[in-house]
Amino acid sequence: MRKIIWFVLLSPLWLSGCSSERPDPGNELFLKDVTLIDGTGAEPQVGVNIRISEGRIVEIGPDLSASPGVEAIDGSGKYVIPGLIDAHVHLDAPTVFQLTPAEKAQVIEHTPKAFLYNGVTAVLNVSSEVDWIFEQRQAERDGRLMSPRIYAMGRSFTPEGGWGSRHGGALADADAALERARDYISRDTDGFKVIIEDGLGASGTYVRMDEEMQAAISRIARENNVPIYTHAINLDEFHSAVAIASTAIVHGLEDPIPAGDSILQDMVEKNVAFVPTHSLWEAFLRHDDAAADLDDPLLRASVPHFLLDYMQDPVYRAEETRRFRAVANMPVYKWAEEKIPVFLENILKAHQAGVLLATGTDAGGPVGFNFQGYNTPWEVKLFVQAGLSPMEALVAATRNGAMVIGVQDQLGTVEPGKLADLLILTANPLDDIENIRKIETIIYKGRAYPRRQFAYQAPTP
Ligand SMILES: [Zn+2]
Repeated sequence: MRKIIWFVLLSPLWLSGCSSERPDPGNELFLKDVTLIDGTGAEPQVGVNIRISEGRIVEIGPDLSASPGVEAIDGSGKYVIPGLIDAHVHLDAPTVFQLTPAEKAQVIEHTPKAFLYNGVTAVLNVSSEVDWIFEQRQAERDGRLMSPRIYAMGRSFTPEGGWGSRHGGALADADAALERARDYISRDTDGFKVIIEDGLGASGTYVRMDEEMQAAISRIARENNVPIYTHAINLDEFHSAVAIASTAIVHGLEDPIPAGDSILQDMVEKNVAFVPTHSLWEAFLRHDDAAADLDDPLLRASVPHFLLDYMQDPVYRAEETRRFRAVANMPVYKWAEEKIPVFLENILKAHQAGVLLATGTDAGGPVGFNFQGYNTPWEVKLFVQAGLSPMEALVAATRNGAMVIGVQDQLGTVEPGKLADLLILTANPLDDIENIRKIETIIYKGRAYPRRQFAYQAPTP
């Protein structure tokens, strides 16, 4: 009897443990003589060796040697950082409105590689079609899908007429929200995405979630230990996001913070992290002047080329603009232009107040220059532009991202015992944060991939 119980209890654990990391016994990597910037914020360690085995970092130190038969990767003159974490993505977002179904499928199929190409080894997918995204997560865990590690949570919680309702799945009332919450919990969701938003620029064009629905979601999340990731943009919405005990607010704050307002102190006290998606707002503005940027070789290696060709066509872009304005119900580019200095200032204020800051792009939505994967290092750079040091921005993009997802015991830093997701750079990111784009090798799940392996290649006709 006892044996049967053990079998029943252990076999699903064994299966999931096996599939989630897919260790390859005997697979060992040895990095020799690197400069390590480990993601904790500690000073770089010069001339260290890193031993990786079965998907994990095993040892770090100056006096290690490679196991017999293991060829060392020479890291002299090179820099190792943790893989980047993007804590606001939508893997099914096609970047523009006007694609054929076949083109859309091609963009979505390539997206995971675009993230890996740009050094992103884990993503928090905060809203996508439910069955599809949980299947993507499973495929990634099973090793069927080459993709950054996926943390997923189905569709947003949004009321009928709410900002998120244009993606479908709007909720009639608090009971409907609870029913959805139970469904997602049964799928082992990594969070709930909650939208508290009445329209950009407080335009009041969308229905804001009522307090009853907010409270219901907050309660069931707390009872089941499910993190809440909240879409909020203005100050009032930020206060609501704190009130429902969000783990993170996953957009920037558009309002100047008045003297005496407690929002930042509240976020620190209640452990509400901040993922300001600043590149999203900047992307709005690139809409009209992106021509030069669209030729960046790193962008061309990240995105199917037909997408870039379309965006160089003024007629196509004018139609994109028209459609985006119709969704937002306001002059979005003008709004972004006015708000960007405020968004930037609030990033620095939040950081100085001690709010945990993490990197997320919300890339892939049809707003203009909004490229998945490619925009993640840009977001890191914008943190430096906001006033963080390169080291602080790097920690935000690595360790802090892991903390937002709740996987800091596994990911986000290069330390013994952690999963082996790391990047080898050819230049020092502390000298210039742009150097996080100078990726030579991506070590992912304990295996080394030359960057070019993830580059987009146009199908040969
Ligand atoms: Zn989003």
